[in-house]
Amino acid sequence: MEKEIKVLISACLLGDNVKYSGGNNLTPELVTLLEKYNVKIVKICPECFAGLPIPRVPSEIREDKVYGKDGRDITEEFLIGAEKTYQIAKIKQVDFAILRERSPSCGSSFIYDGSFSGKVIQGQGLTARRLNKENIVIFSEENLEEIEKYLQELNKK
Ligand code: SF4
Repeated sequence: MEKEIKVLISACLLGDNVKYSGGNNLTPELVTLLEKYNVKIVKICPECFAGLPIPRVPSEIREDKVYGKDGRDITEEFLIGAEKTYQIAKIKQVDFAILRERSPSCGSSFIYDGSFSGKVIQGQGLTARRLNKENIVIFSEENLEEIEKYLQELNKK
C-alpha cells in the first residue's frame, strides 16, 4: 500500500463553485494526476473562510493591501482567510499545498497588479504568504510536472 500523502488544495481547482464569479477553475489534469497516488485531499477556500459571499466583487493586491474592484479595503478579511487556512494545514499536517495561481489569496508566484486591467506581476496572495512563512511547500496548478516529481519523492520516504 502506498503511503498516504495529505495535500491542501484550492477548492476551485477541484470544481467547487467558490470563485468570485460563482464559477470554478476545475483542472482535470490535476485531478487525474492526484488519482494516481494515495492522496488525502484537504480542500480550502480562504475567501469563503473569511465569510466573503459567492459571487463577490473581484479583488486585487495593491501595495500589500487587498482592494475590491469597488474600492473597498478587504485586507482584514483576506488575512482571516489566510490564518484559517494555515490552521487547517497545521491541524491536518498536510505534506504540501496546491493553490490556484494569480489569486489574491492563493497565487504563489503571480498575482494581478492591482489595476484591474488584467496585468500580471510576480507576487503572492495573502494565504500563500502565510503558508510560505510556515515553510509549507506550495505548487500551483500550472506546475503539474513538479507536483508529480514531489509526489514520487514523498512516496519514497
Ligand atoms: Fe479558489 Fe483560492 Fe479564490 Fe477560493 S480563494 S476561489 S480557493 S483561488
